[in-house]
Amino acid sequence: MKKIIGQLKPYVPEEPAESVKARLGVDRLVRLSANENPYGTSPKVREAVLDYVVNNDANLYPDGNASALRAKLANYWNVEENQLVIGVGLDEVISMVNKTFINTGDSIVISVPAFSEYGLNGLVEGAVIREVPCIEATGQYDFGAMRKAVDDTTRLVWICNPNNPTGTYESVEDIRKFIGTLPDNVLVIIDEAYIDFVTSVEVPTARALLDEFPNVCIMRTFSKAYGLANYRVGYMMSSAELANYIQTIRLPYNLNTLSQVAAEAAFEDQEFLRATVRKNAVERDLWEQTLDEVKATYYKSGANFIFMSVPNAEALADEWLAKGYQVRRGQRENWLRVTLPPADDGVIMRSVLKDYMARQ
Ligand SMILES: *Cc1c(COP(=O)(O)O)cnc(C)c1O
Repeated sequence: MKKIIGQLKPYVPEEPAESVKARLGVDRLVRLSANENPYGTSPKVREAVLDYVVNNDANLYPDGNASALRAKLANYWNVEENQLVIGVGLDEVISMVNKTFINTGDSIVISVPAFSEYGLNGLVEGAVIREVPCIEATGQYDFGAMRKAVDDTTRLVWICNPNNPTGTYESVEDIRKFIGTLPDNVLVIIDEAYIDFVTSVEVPTARALLDEFPNVCIMRTFSKAYGLANYRVGYMMSSAELANYIQTIRLPYNLNTLSQVAAEAAFEDQEFLRATVRKNAVERDLWEQTLDEVKATYYKSGANFIFMSVPNAEALADEWLAKGYQVRRGQRENWLRVTLPPADDGVIMRSVLKDYMARQ
């Protein structure tokens, strides 16, 4: 095996709900630890998938180019079809980017805390990961420090916007200024997995930067706001040249047809997306009000989760879990990342939080 593999550990996936329920003796478990869409999936997805399954056998390989989905995405984003790389979730695209662009000894700059896949996939390809701490008080990116971490060895810089796990949003203008200071042989990957949830500005996406800089790549996923995590569809937009390099290592039939059909139907139902975003924004305000009231520490979120800190946070996570609410631990000591639940569950969880804080 590769030397580095001996130093890595397999990803610990979410424990299956049935097993958590049995372990805790609760009837209902609400998973708020993986930032999935708590409002479900567009009903149009179910129809499209059923229709496909009823009318087709499975003996033929899928369309390896995901042509219909590709055409829809290209049209919506006003990019050429060959500027898109579509993967089995963004996870696969992140892995392909590292396989394509990283040579042993290259460095990758990330802001921490960060989404774990950036560093992991880089390490597998022999990269050195340069971790730049976010600004402690706000959770925002420290672009000045990130610029200083870039040198001749740097191949990739990751900007997750809004950032997982901090939830913080960086303006397109700040990102533009930062990229303007970088050499063009440094690829800047802007992961917009949660961008649909941003409601504080009119046009949150950095799509415009794709036309301004040849080294910018933008990632999107269907797993979060579109509620399609189980079908595994994500994509990246970049210059045709960069996309073409990645296509050379993509597995020929990476997306099965059910995933393609599901993503097309989800993408067409923009009303479902808007409803999700609207409900999430209302809940996010209510959570922030409560967190202010109880004087918990948290970062201002543009996403569908909030990163918060309370004294002895594990104990609060246990109290929530005893009531059937599973939140994400372990990303920073005494901090929890909570996917924002629908209104009824939010009321219960915030009352547990208030009660917990009253005892501190
Ligand atoms: C969830 C997530 C992804 C990966 O999503 P896929 O389900 O693999 O498409 C990518 N980036 C960030 C920051 C995420 O939180």
